[in-house]
Amino acid sequence: MDTWLRTRMHELCDLHGVINLASWDREVYLPAKAAPARAQQLSTLQALQHERLVDPRLGEALARASEAGPSSQALTPDERAMVRVLTHDRERAVRLPARLVTALAEAQGAGIQAWREAREAKRFAHFQPALEALLALRREQADAQGHDGERYNALLEGFEPGMRVQRLTPVLTALRDALIPMVAAIAEVRRPTPAFLDGRAYDTAQQWRFTMRLLEAVGFDLEAGRQDVSIHPFTNSVNAHDVRLTTRLDAVHPMSALFGTLHEAGHGLYEQGFAPELLRTPLASVPSMGLHESQSRLWENLVGRGRAFWVHHFPALKEAFPRELGDVDLDGFHAGINHVAPSLIRVEADEVTYNLHIALRYELELALLRDELPVSELPSAWNERMRRYLGVTPPDDTQGVLQDIHWAWGELGYFPTYALGNLYAASLHAAASRALPELDAHLARGDTSSLRGWLRAQVHSHGFRLPAEERVQAVTGAGLTDRDFLVYLRAKYGALYGVTL
Ligand SMILES: [Zn+2]
Repeated sequence: MDTWLRTRMHELCDLHGVINLASWDREVYLPAKAAPARAQQLSTLQALQHERLVDPRLGEALARASEAGPSSQALTPDERAMVRVLTHDRERAVRLPARLVTALAEAQGAGIQAWREAREAKRFAHFQPALEALLALRREQADAQGHDGERYNALLEGFEPGMRVQRLTPVLTALRDALIPMVAAIAEVRRPTPAFLDGRAYDTAQQWRFTMRLLEAVGFDLEAGRQDVSIHPFTNSVNAHDVRLTTRLDAVHPMSALFGTLHEAGHGLYEQGFAPELLRTPLASVPSMGLHESQSRLWENLVGRGRAFWVHHFPALKEAFPRELGDVDLDGFHAGINHVAPSLIRVEADEVTYNLHIALRYELELALLRDELPVSELPSAWNERMRRYLGVTPPDDTQGVLQDIHWAWGELGYFPTYALGNLYAASLHAAASRALPELDAHLARGDTSSLRGWLRAQVHSHGFRLPAEERVQAVTGAGLTDRDFLVYLRAKYGALYGVTL
């Protein structure tokens, strides 16, 4: 690859990293008075990044490089993948007219404002006109970026490159239909919220110390990253040697710190795991939001809500909270952190009910974008599905259709990546368990290195060499499927609740 093209790739990565650093800082440490200046700085950096990306000279260099053809000796296989990824990103950026970018930014500002007011008033109607404007712009965006007649595909492409509605809908529909009776069967058991999670106050300084212990336990490299506190936990990577995580500390909800940290650590391990030869190139990135989420879910749920993991860590947790956990044993703790209850709020949902919240949102987004559902009917369509899928009815719009911030930004196509993450996580974990038959014994003695090493070799180190589903296929032998996830749920929750699922 010629030096000019390689230098442009380095620059784009550096800009991306600095933008992430400034955004992380805005959420974690920014003094209040600095907010307007930071917004200007970020906007300048983003404009610079966009300008570099759509530069016609970059387009020509990429075209020359890809003309060399797949059998050419001029480029290594990694370099060909770099050209493919950057060309894809560039074409999507080029196709978006500057006028539309500005209009979207303005409509998002108005959307957030209207959404906040509507939440305050608990009335969707206050948000409706803003959402209609955002939807019109997203349709325009989809048409500008190009699609096969299904506008949703163009938006999905921004988060889950290569995934299509035609591939996704049958999987999510089958998953939904398998989950509805499963949730109903577990709800029949009517187990109350465990006492240790019901109102007991857990010292937040102790919580923080325990989250740091968990980071070390899963092998997050604290010399190549750090953890801080924020209102909403997130991960932002400056580069593979500087990965920033945040967690949330809440005295009466201690599990949100523990599992929030495990979740973000899963994202962080992925970002720290790219092969050295990929750094500062377009391949030092995760192929899709769904695959990114598979790593957070794998550590949070498949490992972190598993009994084996707590065989090692529960004694230390009890020691940290002797009063709060004095009457709880390992099995009681394991059952408690896997408590299943159909509920109104997605971000508080357990593993079994979670994907029903996603199926609902996906179906509504698709109907909105296809003009099959008028925006005015969104709240009733929401409530009707909540009843049908989960058996609960939101008492107001704030606890229903207005609960997530995604639509306030007009962000459509993101929700399904959460479900993809859950499904990929189960499939990758099943493959890891086949490759490492002693995995549970390793976890029970506090050793996560075999799993981490396997994930690093199979998934993390490859960055964006392959699209997400092809990567999963290469590792597990199958692409997107709900099979492994359902097998996992049936075994785990069948045993925990003493029912046949
Ligand atoms: Zn996540």
